[in-house]
Amino acid sequence: MDLVVQKYGGTSLGSAERIKAVARRVAGAHDAGNQVVVVASAMADTTDELISLAKQVTEYPDDREVDQLLSTGEMVSCTLLAMALRSLGYQAVSLNGAQAGIKTDSFHRRARILSIDPHRITRELDSGRIVIVAGFQGITEGMDITTLGRGGSDLTAVALAARLGARLCEIYTDVEGVYTADPRMEPEARKLADISYEEMVELATHGARVIHPRAVEVGQVYRLPILVASSFSNTSGTLIKGEVDLEARNKVRGIADDRDVAKVTILRVPDRPGIAAKIFEPLAEAGISVDTIVQNASVERFTDLTFTVSRNDLARALGLVEPVADEVGARGCTHDATLAKVSIVGTGMASSPGYAARMFKALYQAGINIELITTSEIRITCIIAEEQVQKAVRTLHRAFELEKPG
Ligand code: ADP
Ligand code: ASP
Ligand code: MG
Repeated sequence: MDLVVQKYGGTSLGSAERIKAVARRVAGAHDAGNQVVVVASAMADTTDELISLAKQVTEYPDDREVDQLLSTGEMVSCTLLAMALRSLGYQAVSLNGAQAGIKTDSFHRRARILSIDPHRITRELDSGRIVIVAGFQGITEGMDITTLGRGGSDLTAVALAARLGARLCEIYTDVEGVYTADPRMEPEARKLADISYEEMVELATHGARVIHPRAVEVGQVYRLPILVASSFSNTSGTLIKGEVDLEARNKVRGIADDRDVAKVTILRVPDRPGIAAKIFEPLAEAGISVDTIVQNASVERFTDLTFTVSRNDLARALGLVEPVADEVGARGCTHDATLAKVSIVGTGMASSPGYAARMFKALYQAGINIELITTSEIRITCIIAEEQVQKAVRTLHRAFELEKPG
């Protein structure tokens, strides 16, 4: 008997009707003779609504309480899905993260899975039940509920599939797979038959929210292929895996965009050893992740230092950096929260030159100004004005001929 692990996203579970439709799909996998584990996200906008409620109660809600609160979203959908399956005549049981044995560290709202004790799940499977696990959550050593970061149900699913020894993890969502760009941004975007782990990690990290980047990393570590496909149709999806065909290696594979960018610039920082550490240490201690960092070559022993953070972290970042800027004798800080990132990604870029020039030229010809540039071996990212992001995505999609197959 094969073990199937399926994850359904929030839109796919967005109403009682949709939950019943998902129950029929899950039942189909069980009827085909498989043991079935399902990971459920919270229904549609539930998580956003819970966060907004917390913010209405208090400006700075406590992270532990936020996690307790958010975990209820996935409890609602997974219990309803179990009920729907039972009403179809199937034996099904819902489990929260703790019951499913998912142990995490204690960094609330961005916890990491430390281990999974699979005993409860395997016991349920062995007694013939379909197991529905609440995604996005786990429990600490001290029995506090944690969540894994936004979009974290993908991670729950891939980690469970790896731990339970499944051959594949199936992620069902509201698009038919991974596209060359967000299909809501670029109507010409094309569905990819497959994509490498490396490329998917880069795309997901830089804004392609179709799958959580850490879910892809776990898949890569355990050599577990991940299928991304539609929960609404039976069309073939995209397989995320180790090897992709030769031809695909010579191309830009996809474009990611991300509007969650805020930039901080510290002006006229004295160019002395230790200053960068002084600025970035407090940010790290506060758990603020810094994305792009650019330090200009110094002129007369002063330099400007620019970095980007998520918009949610901007106020806290400024609160930490402004006093340090004062202390080290910088001229002051400026910030801008109306920026976005656009990235091109492809393994082929590592070995052939010319991609950066093509990207910059295409953006220039479209009248798009580049504020900052960062690269990895297989990615080039430009930071631009937020209002130009859709134009940038569409311009680059055309410039790299991504609408053309192969
Ligand atoms: P779920 O609730 O199923 O987890 P998400 O909203 O988290 O779904 O992710 C699916 C969304 O990801 C799609 O609706 C699409 O707009 C967006 N997306 C961004 N980039 C891509 C891409 N390259 N391919 C497909 N979808 C993408
Ligand atoms: N419900 C959570 C979120 O909205 C987790 C997920 O959907 O994967 O971020
Ligand atoms: Mg998601």
